[in-house]
Amino acid sequence: MEQEYDDWIQAGQIAAKVREEARAWVRENALIRETADKVEARILELGGKIAFPAQFSSDNVAAHYCPDAQDETRFARNIVKMDIGVHVSGAVADTAVTIDLTKEHSSLVKASEEALKAASELVRPGATPAQIGRAIHEVITSYGFSPIKNLSGHGLGRYEVHTSPSIPNYDTGDDNPLKKGQTIAIEPFATNGLGMIKQSSNATVFMLTNPKPVRDITSRKILEKIKGYEGLPFASRWLAGFGAQRVRLSLSQFVKLGIIEQYPPLVEQGNGLVSQTEHTFIVDEPAIITTRL
Ligand code: MN
Ligand code: MN
Repeated sequence: MEQEYDDWIQAGQIAAKVREEARAWVRENALIRETADKVEARILELGGKIAFPAQFSSDNVAAHYCPDAQDETRFARNIVKMDIGVHVSGAVADTAVTIDLTKEHSSLVKASEEALKAASELVRPGATPAQIGRAIHEVITSYGFSPIKNLSGHGLGRYEVHTSPSIPNYDTGDDNPLKKGQTIAIEPFATNGLGMIKQSSNATVFMLTNPKPVRDITSRKILEKIKGYEGLPFASRWLAGFGAQRVRLSLSQFVKLGIIEQYPPLVEQGNGLVSQTEHTFIVDEPAIITTRL
């Protein structure tokens, strides 16, 4: 194995191990916040770092649900997308699975799993986002569901969780070939709704994009702490030590000043149920799926 792949593979293997262990932690009545804490602690225990906060989006929420420190929500009979990010020296692994606590939507889950499988078989130098998107679209519609068109896979860089190219869930006509050594995440989303998401309110996931000086002393301390996250996404929950009210105030101030970007929960526009499956790949011949155990 080429040495420059080592960090990516190590991050992927940690993410895969945590993902498989954590499946059992997602069960009815478990506190989502505690489950997120457990996942993040386990990443560190295995020698990885957290590339982005663990997220557990239920039912019609496709992504970006991340409990804050006050969140007492428990898993119920939900369709839960568990999304995990690990990095090793900045090399990111991004992986997600859907856990169906309703036990009534196995075909919706299977649609995104099989779409990812079909896409996986296409990954190689020269393959195009259009081809991958077409394969995902075909599999998901063959199950009678729709892919979510305004969510997509993406490139991954060192200390970068979203970079080019975009890997769509339908044929966008993007014929730019993938290149050997590129790292990408592919993440088919299937829904029985409209196949489009919209942003909701109350973001709990943020990322430092444009640090600027701030005046008041607490905001300054919070910003110092945020700088420690190395430009990667973070959870408001991680700042709970400063006091919930205070953190909310500072974060909304930082958003207004353009210091941080916010990532609110993404809700299916037709309120459809959503499944998601995601792996990280190194484009090569054969492709390496870093997040497969
Ligand atoms: Mn993900
Ligand atoms: Mn992703």
